[in-house]
Amino acid sequence: MTTETPTPAQAAPADFIRDIAEADLKSGKHAKIVTRFPPEPNGYLHIGHAKSICLNFGLAQEHGGVCHLRFDDTNPVVEEVEYVESIMKDVRWLGFDWKDKLFYASDYFERLYGYAVELIKRGSAYVCDLPVDEVRRDRGDFNRPGKESPFRNRSVDENLDLFGRMRAGAFPDGTKTLRAKIDMSSPNMNMRDPVLYRIKKASHHRTGDAWCVYPMYDYAHPLSDAFEGITHSICTLEFEDHRPLYDWILEAGPAPCRPRQIEFARLNLTHTLMSKRTLRELVEKGLVSGWDDPRMPTLSGMRRRGYSPEAIRAFCGRIGVTKSPSLSEVALLEDTLRDDLNRRCPRAMAVLKPVKVVIENYPEGQVEELDAVNHPEDPSQGTRKVPFCRELYIEAEDFREEPPPKFFRLAPDREVRLRYAYFVKCVGVVKDPKTGVVTEIRCTYDPASRGGNSPDGRKVKATIHWVSARHALKAEVRLYDHLLALADPSAIPEGGDFRDHLNPKSLETLPGAMVEPALASAAAGSRFQFERQGYFCADAEDSKPGAPVFNRTVTLRDTWAKIEKAQPKKGS
Ligand code: ATP
Ligand code: MG
Repeated sequence: MTTETPTPAQAAPADFIRDIAEADLKSGKHAKIVTRFPPEPNGYLHIGHAKSICLNFGLAQEHGGVCHLRFDDTNPVVEEVEYVESIMKDVRWLGFDWKDKLFYASDYFERLYGYAVELIKRGSAYVCDLPVDEVRRDRGDFNRPGKESPFRNRSVDENLDLFGRMRAGAFPDGTKTLRAKIDMSSPNMNMRDPVLYRIKKASHHRTGDAWCVYPMYDYAHPLSDAFEGITHSICTLEFEDHRPLYDWILEAGPAPCRPRQIEFARLNLTHTLMSKRTLRELVEKGLVSGWDDPRMPTLSGMRRRGYSPEAIRAFCGRIGVTKSPSLSEVALLEDTLRDDLNRRCPRAMAVLKPVKVVIENYPEGQVEELDAVNHPEDPSQGTRKVPFCRELYIEAEDFREEPPPKFFRLAPDREVRLRYAYFVKCVGVVKDPKTGVVTEIRCTYDPASRGGNSPDGRKVKATIHWVSARHALKAEVRLYDHLLALADPSAIPEGGDFRDHLNPKSLETLPGAMVEPALASAAAGSRFQFERQGYFCADAEDSKPGAPVFNRTVTLRDTWAKIEKAQPKKGS
């Protein structure tokens, strides 16, 4: 079994955001760092969110501050309780704790409304009767200033009356908005009298039918930050142009404090689709088995695949935090994962695509319990017994009837080592008379090589893994590859369909794998290195005692595979 430590121990490297926070503490601007992670509960968290979680919670933790978990649930239409629960589970799993600092933007609806009333009283907001699409049309563009709304100069009293009736449900959806009165010719489009409130007669997952006006993100976000006393409001680069509006909202009314918005570059990963909208589409169209499909870049999918939270946190530390957009290699994530799994995973033997071996000179009915090392670099993980007898399974690809050059594994008249067991030599094959496929490999063994040790200094060029045919347990093994065939997800053209770029071989199911008997009781979620095959994890949903299902988390750096690739296949 593997263990998870509850809190991240690794120190994060310095970055420009940490520099700002430290300077603010040093200058006395803030006595304590308060950050927040503000997911919208409209999907499951993905590895991109992990970057933000590690940054926000990490920054607070390193400075004795706090990080709030705030659900940004201001849009009633797309949000669901299922998502709220999954988000809390995933943040905890990653190893972070919001303590008693759990908030919902919807808890601020009354306060946000009151602040809007205050903006109206100060002449900084007005009710606009233009339909939403006309508001958009009149905004102008980069070359053309916007057009002022004919309702821009309504009196305070009229605005207060109309806004009150909007709240009371007097108007249909989309017929009126509350807008900030800023500057229709601002070079920053976000400052052209942005909409603060819209009418939406929709039930909200927490406030029910109490409200039919809902605040926009750009309005609710800075105020939620201010209500909570956030010191550093960290968000991704797309919001850089929104920062003047963020500051305007806080300055235009009686905000209790002035959080500082700081932007950083979002995580993009090769071969990885990362927007929640796209991930939802994959789920809804049945292109994956669910949000936790092990191919998904969601934290729940990665957990099911066998990722450890430590590996994800270490990856976030490795990529760092910068201000320039970039594309990280999924290979780097996998490399970080291997480092972590290598340390924690006990070894086991599993034959994924078996072929039978019969050892002709091994006594029928005899069974030996041989010692196998659980971890070559960590003796504290001990040893286990693996049963050995006359009939075994090895990987079909570890045998070639006509071995190509540089193929050093089993072949006619050739001797190899069976890991922890004996030297065996191939003395013949049995083939299917119709297809010519090798169905059985006949071998002899050298009893003097017990434990896999050479009796006389003679060498073999390969060591292969095996399981006892009589004792092995049948298992289903699932091999995964990238979901997206395309390396750069941003290369999908605007309006293009990501489905055209999905990897058709992202899942390969091997129903007939044979695993060593000790794995019969592998607990759901437990991780192993299957020698020579990679890191595997017992599937949390489908694995059952006696009928295990293993997900391959990641391959090993496999020299055999490289040699295979370089050699065109010959023979059987
Ligand atoms: P998506 O674009 O996948 O739909 P989102 O930004 O709409 O994500 P939110 O729930 O609003 O999702 O995100 C919560 C927080 O996570 C935000 O502060 C956001 O900036 C951050 N975040 C989202 N995606 C990434 C990413 N790829 N890299 C870093 N941070 C991210
Ligand atoms: Mg968002």
